[in-house]
Amino acid sequence: MSELVALSLGSNVGDRVGNLRRAIEELASFLRIEKVSAFYVSRAILYEAQDDFINVVVLGRTDLEPLEFLDRTQTVERDLWRIYRFRYGPREIDIDIVFFGDRLIDSERLTIPHIGAASRDFVLEPLAEIAADLIHPSLDRTVGQLLLDIPGSDRTVIQRYDG
Ligand code: ADP
Ligand code: MG
Repeated sequence: MSELVALSLGSNVGDRVGNLRRAIEELASFLRIEKVSAFYVSRAILYEAQDDFINVVVLGRTDLEPLEFLDRTQTVERDLWRIYRFRYGPREIDIDIVFFGDRLIDSERLTIPHIGAASRDFVLEPLAEIAADLIHPSLDRTVGQLLLDIPGSDRTVIQRYDG
């Protein structure tokens, strides 16, 4: 049985849009892509002294199990020459699994829903654009509701990227 998967992709090093486009092409070899959001630009969080990120959210279906799926997304990250610099640091590509059907997973390699899924506007804003009614399986709130829940003070500046 296939599961509906939501992925959040980000890049802030090199040809950011090119990196994201290439990652989406590679994802298509193991994910039946249904929707792709617009590109958005956001300020880096946690470690702020780095370039702005471009973010995009992808929705699709897979028959893989979550850990197999993570192996595949990590292979895409390596294919794009992602270099590990330091925690929360600059990256060529980041692929985070936001939702995997309605599964709840908390293991060493995988936490699903992704911790940031419920609170980060650079995930929720693009996701709300393509799937506002998707339900967060443990909070039992839709993506649209979660987006409205983010306190104004926690909002980063995120806007559509048309460059
Ligand atoms: P960041 O947390 O900044 O995205 P990384 O992309 O370097 O950091 O990921 C660190 C680890 O997070 C990965 O090795 C992976 O095993 C783990 N991880 C846990 N949950 C998830 C998830 N939902 N999606 C992607 N990676 C995850
Ligand atoms: Mg990541």
